[in-house]
Amino acid sequence: MIDLHSHTNESDGTYSPAELVDEAVRRNLEALAITDHDTFAGYDQAVHIAGAKGLDLVCGIEINTRMARGDGNRERAWSIHLLGYFLREPPTFSFREWLLELLETRRKRNSKLVRKLQSMGVDIELSEVQALGRTLTGRPHFARVLMNKAYVSTTEEAFRKYLGESAPGFVNRDSPHTVMGIQQIEAADGMAVLAHPVRLGVRDPGQEEEKRRLRFSRRCEAEHSPGHGRQRESERSTKGAGGIEEKIAESGADSAETADSTNRVKVMPEDAGL
Ligand SMILES: [Zn+2]
Ligand SMILES: [Zn+2]
Repeated sequence: MIDLHSHTNESDGTYSPAELVDEAVRRNLEALAITDHDTFAGYDQAVHIAGAKGLDLVCGIEINTRMARGDGNRERAWSIHLLGYFLREPPTFSFREWLLELLETRRKRNSKLVRKLQSMGVDIELSEVQALGRTLTGRPHFARVLMNKAYVSTTEEAFRKYLGESAPGFVNRDSPHTVMGIQQIEAADGMAVLAHPVRLGVRDPGQEEEKRRLRFSRRCEAEHSPGHGRQRESERSTKGAGGIEEKIAESGADSAETADSTNRVKVMPEDAGL
């Protein structure tokens, strides 16, 4: 069993990187991918611990992206979470720099969100939200503050009444375009996979095709581009037939979904809202 979608407390997970590795070893996982949002802080801490305990740790990341579809009159934007796997180890400086830019968009959104909530009469300060979320402060942490102060009683209610896309307090975050996300992941030698596609809930065949395209974009590149093909071939031979990378490539995001739902080590339910 493998878990290819997990978060440490460096993003919105509960376990520390060391605890997550221990939990994966305890559950006899063959491999664990740490896919924190916008940061390698968890992976950086876990990599040596995992190595010492014989756990195959996959270098991963999760990026919130946006993709708009439509003809201008009826344009609709989707929030699309991309997972990046097998990024160069250690991850490249330029990719880390790009993540810092994403953190900045998150910080700007948080400041605006505090002002918006204050204008709605909510007694809230950025400092108290940041005390919970630290560098990766996001809407789940806003939800927790709203719960602590008895404005709402559940996370779901916080999103419905204040923070969600249809709620009056919603503030859009300037997330990167999905294509940009794929390009950045691939430039860092990673494989881009669509995260939890079920949440997108799209039934239109064209959109299904789009999802498949995202899912297999890296695989196609590996098969059709001579340079990447050679590189992937050599990686495959070192990992062996039926290796983790092939498992992902063959099943796309579904393997991550299966791992998520059947043997997840720790994925926060609020993941979609960070
Ligand atoms: Zn996630
Ligand atoms: Zn996600």
